[in-house]
Amino acid sequence: MVKETQFYDILEVPPTATDAELKKAYRKLALKYHPDKNPNAGDKFKQISVAYEVLSDPKKRELYDRGGEEAIKGGGTGGMDFHSPMDIFDLFFGGGGRRGGGGRSGPRKGKDVIHQMKVSLEDLYNGATRKLALQKNVICSKCEGRGGKEGSVQKCGACRGSGMQIRIQQIGPGMVQQIQSVCGECRGEGEVIDPRYRCKTCNGKKIVKERKILEVHIDKGMKDNQQIRFSGEGDQEPDLEPGDIVIVLDEQEHERFRRRGHDLIMTMQLELVEALCGFQKTVKTLDGRTLVITNLPGDVLKNEDIKCVTGEGMPVYRDPFEKGRLIIQFSVTFPTTGSLSPEAIATLETVLPPKQEIIVPDDAEECHLQEIDPSHQRRENYDSDDDHPGGQRVQCAPQ
Ligand SMILES: [Zn+2]
Ligand SMILES: [Zn+2]
Repeated sequence: MVKETQFYDILEVPPTATDAELKKAYRKLALKYHPDKNPNAGDKFKQISVAYEVLSDPKKRELYDRGGEEAIKGGGTGGMDFHSPMDIFDLFFGGGGRRGGGGRSGPRKGKDVIHQMKVSLEDLYNGATRKLALQKNVICSKCEGRGGKEGSVQKCGACRGSGMQIRIQQIGPGMVQQIQSVCGECRGEGEVIDPRYRCKTCNGKKIVKERKILEVHIDKGMKDNQQIRFSGEGDQEPDLEPGDIVIVLDEQEHERFRRRGHDLIMTMQLELVEALCGFQKTVKTLDGRTLVITNLPGDVLKNEDIKCVTGEGMPVYRDPFEKGRLIIQFSVTFPTTGSLSPEAIATLETVLPPKQEIIVPDDAEECHLQEIDPSHQRRENYDSDDDHPGGQRVQCAPQ
């Protein structure tokens, strides 16, 4: 039981969410509410980052589940340091191409532009090429990024090219204050362009918008969240090395298969007669082939039994002839109450293993079996039963 669910609510996941589900939720929301894409979202981007930072760390998540936000913010642990939302974003998307570039040598680099791309499991199985149209800023070719005719661009006299103005203000006897503000003359550009010679194509902005088509190659075996980087294809800006365009793959749910690593998992419905007497069934693969699955009569399959077909899972990235397993979980449909005729029951009794004979003592008490009403279940009873689960919990061993 968690104390509060606010962080889960922010990420739009249930408190039972797995790491993978948290990642997916963060990625979706962070891209949606990134200030570049959605400048009016206010604090939303920050809230998402804080929630993700806490819940993605097992220790912090446990602390939060037990004590809520209060436990995270102090509560005897001496508080916790939070990273800036941008740091979390860069960490997640492997960016770091933020403006400024710190003390690094070489030209400053523009920021990366991140796009999410929906891909089907078929695309990731077979590989695919997608065209992606986007708008980007490029240096104006007419004025070669100067903003006007050669010589028409002058250093701003008001700020001497710094883009900032410093005013000295007296705030008391013998006390002055320096106030720094953006230069009003050049609006922080540090230079002014004679309007007569200003470039008509870019209006003196030095950059123009351009439609760009990118060909995105999705290789066989690529994964959800995998990034495809187009080096230097980000927005261009004068005196700045352009950042990258980063495509983040977003694997869509498939109607038949779930993916776990290189394995594909599917459920196969069986009638009781098939589970007992063998069957043949077909499975359509992600590349359109048909597999025939055969189970011989007498190889009894129980409900929730699991079998696999090797080599029919997902291809391995960069080694596509190597493939994972197709894991089949069987779900056996039993006849419904009242569907078996008395004759059928009698026939079944002659072929199935015999019933167990019991001796009923004279003082035994007769009782009735009833349906269980789930809403009447008492929580305590359920918890204390954890050591002896009623139903067999079937889980596929992780690879
Ligand atoms: Zn121009
Ligand atoms: Zn100026």
